[in-house]
Parts: sequence; C-alpha cells; structure tokens
Amino acid sequence: MITTDILIIGAGPVGLFTVFEAGLLKLRCHLIDALPQAGGQCSEIYPKKPIYDIPGFPSVLAGDLIDNLMEQIAPFKPGFTLGESAVTIDETEDNQFIVTTDRGTKHKAPVVAIAGGLGVFTPRKPPIANINDFEDKGIKYIVKDPEEFRNQKVVISGGGDTALDWTIYFVEELNCDVTMVHRSQSFRGHLDSVQKVMNMAEAGKLKLMMDSEVVGLNGSQQLDEVVIKTKSGEMIHQKLDTWLPLFGLTPKLGPIADWGLEIEKGAIVVDNSTDYRTNRDGIYAIGDVNHYEGKLKLILCGFHEATIMCQSAFKRIHPDKNNVLKYTTVNGVNGFE
Ligand SMILES: Cc1cc2nc3c(=O)[nH]c(=O)nc-3n(C[C@H](O)[C@H](O)[C@H](O)COP(=O)(O)OP(=O)(O)OC[C@H]3O[C@@H](n4cnc5c(N)ncnc54)[C@H](O)[C@@H]3O)c2cc1C
Repeated sequence: MITTDILIIGAGPVGLFTVFEAGLLKLRCHLIDALPQAGGQCSEIYPKKPIYDIPGFPSVLAGDLIDNLMEQIAPFKPGFTLGESAVTIDETEDNQFIVTTDRGTKHKAPVVAIAGGLGVFTPRKPPIANINDFEDKGIKYIVKDPEEFRNQKVVISGGGDTALDWTIYFVEELNCDVTMVHRSQSFRGHLDSVQKVMNMAEAGKLKLMMDSEVVGLNGSQQLDEVVIKTKSGEMIHQKLDTWLPLFGLTPKLGPIADWGLEIEKGAIVVDNSTDYRTNRDGIYAIGDVNHYEGKLKLILCGFHEATIMCQSAFKRIHPDKNNVLKYTTVNGVNGFE
C-alpha cells in the first residue's frame, strides 16, 4: 500500500504543480497517471507547440513547461504510479481514501486531488471484431517499456508521429523486425521522421506497406498473425510477436464518473467560492477536470486552483496547526528532511 498526504490523480501540468504548492506546506504527494509519462495533454498532444499565456514565459514549448515543472517539484520527491488508471475509491473508518488502479496498486491518503484533465486517454481501436481477445496477448496500444519488444517481430500501424517515432526506435535501438502498415498514401508526422522511415525502408531496414491496413487477427491464446489487406486487395498473412495499432488516444472521464461525485457537462462540479472541493468531503477537483460557473480550461487557472486547494488540504490534514502564508523569496523551497 502506497501512503501519502495528497493523492493526485493525473500528472498533467496541474497535478504536477500541486506537488510544489503542497511541498511548501510540507505535505507529501503521490501521482497516478494512466499514461506512461507525466505531462498530460502537454506531453501527449502538443509537446512541440509553444504556449504564450504562462505568466513570466513569453513563449514556452509545452514539453519544456513539463520538464520545468518536473525540475521545480523534484525537491519534494513526489511518488509516481504511471501507466495505471485509478478505477475505484473506498473510504476507511479513519476518514482516509484508498484508491486502486486497474493493475491493483493501492494508494492511501487523507486527501484526494483529482487533476484528471479531460480524462484517461483511451486508444482509438481499429474496427476488428475479435480485437479485444488479443489485448495484452500480442496487441499493445501504448509502448510503456520499449525493452519488452527487443528482438521481436512487430507490425506497427498508424501514420502519425507516435507510429513513426516508435518504428524508427524499434529498428535502431531494439533490433526489431518491423513492418509498418499505413492505410493512406501520406503520413501526418514530422517531415524528418517521415523521410527517415522512407530511407530505412529503401535500405531494407524495415518493410513499409502504404495504402494497406490490418483487417484480421488470428491466434488461439496469443496473437499469431495479422491479415494485411493491400491496395490491390491482396490478403497477406503475416506472422508476428506483437501488433501495435498506434492510431492515437482520445480522453474519457472513465471510472471517476462513478465515484459519487456531482458531474455536469462531463466534468466534476466544485465549489470555487471556497477551495475547489467536490460534493465528497476530502476529495477535490482541479484543472480541466472540474466545472463551475465561468470555468476556463487553461493551465494558469489550474495552477491557481491547485494553490487554493493545497491550503484547504493542509487544514484537513492538520486541523490543529495554524498555517501562515510565507513567500518563497523569504522562506525558500524547503524539501523534506
Ligand atoms: C492543442 C492544445 C493546445 C493548448 N494550448 C493551451 C494554451 O496555449 N494555454 C493554456 O493554458 N492551455 C492550453 N491548452 C489546454 C491545456 O493543455 C489544459 O488546460 C491542461 O493540460 C490541463 O491540465 P490538467 O493537468 O488539468 O489536465 P491534463 O493535461 O489533461 O492531464 C490530466 C492527466 O490525468 C490523467 N488521468 C485522467 N483520469 C485518470 C485516471 N482515472 N487515472 C489515472 N490518470 C488519469 C490523464 O492521463 C492525463 O495525463 C491546450 C490544449 C490543447 C489540446
């Protein structure tokens, strides 16, 4: 059981900044995120786009903002459970919460801060009837630990940056036998990556099948082969270890919607006149995931919400202690002893 003071669900920019504000109050944090990396939308959707409305930064790449936040919170040594979704919440007799993930990891804390953004990023699945039968039995939608694919025979489907980047990495770093299958004639990814994949295909380092798509899956316990339909209508049966359909991820609020929280417009209703508390005592919602009148889904608004919420969490965790607001310029950033 992982124990902490504030359990943060969602390691997007708002969840990360919560660690900093909590750290100033000497509260420990642990973050859960369904994605294999921290950063939420900034890392997953637009890491190379500049953001212009972060105070003090005339322009900052979304990916760099996340790197900076990770550096800023490092002194407070947050814990991370990555690549796992928070699915259930139970309340104990001593007013604590136990949050369990889809992989069974249990976390216990007196305060839960939901910073789940638009929700869990869920893979876009191709419409193949028996696809669910082979999930984690030869099909992976996200590469969490690349090493598990070393020396494998893999088929990668998709035409965006994720598919291109992993194709290059699997060939160059993991010694994989890669077939890349893309249903269109052109890619959507960065030109450099597209060129690199083309060059690798020409040099015989990978097999590239354009205008083609995986339409069938065969195997008994484990996926044995995929059936690839080519432009001419030919059906190719290809043996493999793993198929990676990398068609992108779409967010869904998911199991949190069943936690007894008031939901409006697909977001968690909070009281913004106080401290972003939900209708359940001890559970807060901050950032894109919450809803109140006048809500703006902006990073800087989430940072503000996190700051106010941490003050309230402090009072809940230490009802007998008085907290006096101190400037960081005066007090510095004191990590945990
Ligand atoms: C293309 C684009 C451009 C943008 N430009 C700007 C801009 O210029 N300025 C600006 O301020 N904002 C911008 N935004 C919006 C900004 O990215 C969001 O406001 C911000 O990411 C919200 O942060 P968050 O931490 O609340 O949520 P998110 O970044 O969405 O992170 C939430 C995290 O929670 C995780 N999660 C959710 N549910 C669970 C669960 N049950 N278990 C485990 N993990 C879970 C998700 O995997 C995700 O990683 C832009 C957004 C997009 C898509």
